Amino acid sequence: MSPLLSVRDLRVRFRTMGPLKALATGVRQPFIDAVCGVSFELRKGETLGLVGESGSGKSTVARAIMGLRPPTSGSIAFEGQEITGLSPAERKLYLRRMAMMFQDPIGSLSPRLTVRSLLMEPFHIHGMKDRDAATEADRLLGLVGLPADFGRRYPHQLSGGQARRVGVARALALDPNLIVADEPTAGLDVSVQGEVLNLLARLQDQLGIAILIITHNLNVVRHITDRMAIMYLGRFVEVGPTEHIFRQPRHPYTEALLSANPEPDPDAVIDRIEIKGEVPSLLKRPSGCEFHTRCRYAREMCAKVFPEPSQSGSDPAHSFKCHFPLEGRWQRAERSLVSPTV
Ligand code: ATP
Ligand code: SF4
Repeated sequence: MSPLLSVRDLRVRFRTMGPLKALATGVRQPFIDAVCGVSFELRKGETLGLVGESGSGKSTVARAIMGLRPPTSGSIAFEGQEITGLSPAERKLYLRRMAMMFQDPIGSLSPRLTVRSLLMEPFHIHGMKDRDAATEADRLLGLVGLPADFGRRYPHQLSGGQARRVGVARALALDPNLIVADEPTAGLDVSVQGEVLNLLARLQDQLGIAILIITHNLNVVRHITDRMAIMYLGRFVEVGPTEHIFRQPRHPYTEALLSANPEPDPDAVIDRIEIKGEVPSLLKRPSGCEFHTRCRYAREMCAKVFPEPSQSGSDPAHSFKCHFPLEGRWQRAERSLVSPTV
């Protein structure tokens, strides 16, 4: 079965200053590569989590897929069709089948429209009459577990969890095959987070939708995703089946992120690992392995040679970019005694 979404060598470059200023200030490369050669596939009904510190490029990947930010190079194919470089009219056709859930659902909803009007909007845009659109709005409310009388409320009258449900309902309006969810549980209490995640998981089972989730929250990733990708400075440094990565992270950056997880695996013997230093500037990428300036296991070679992707022996779907990958949980306490040489 061909993938629903196929992203190949995606690169998104932002200019940091105009050409004249760059000339005047002698800056030879007045741009940053926010996304740098990212490739992945997503199949029907599958959930992929994108994880990484702030500024690692997660939202830029999502925006490129949604056609909100043109890629500098690379390919994005949706349902087998290349969608980079389409005209706005052509893009409108495929955007029916992809939906985005934004980080701030109340802020992204017009405050002057009732929930029912907000849910009718996507149908109006596609030419549906009022009565049919109202019926569809009520169907969507039911689908996300809200009573029909919620249709009369305004966004400011909704709790965080209810607003998130309305966000999900809007995303579902045109029967998408793919939902891109940017921090779907940010700012919610833990119990409400669980409700929203269960809702997404139920809808995915029921409707077979693929979901790309962008989040800082590793509990969300473990709860809902089939696969996860860890981003650092615009690149995937580790990608694979979520459970496999949680049990046996191979990249030191992943290990450190997982060790900070507030709900660690009860079987884990690992203490919290601080990632030293700041995230490097994208204007001056570190040489070799770009994580070497912060890696507790870095050796001389790491600063010189860029690590190509390797596959995990126990699961070829699990790959990582590290010259000295971690061998397993039981070894980590020992390895933590090794002091960095760079
Ligand atoms: P967060 O978790 O904080 O949302 P992120 O991982 O989603 O972060 P992005 O928002 O994709 O990261 O940003 C990646 C890099 O690109 C950052 O350095 C950011 O400052 C830069 N960036 C994003 N949008 C623009 C833009 N429109 N112009 C210039 N730089 C940008
Ligand atoms: Fe650390 Fe070296 Fe692996 Fe990079 S290649 S993550 S610096 S051990």
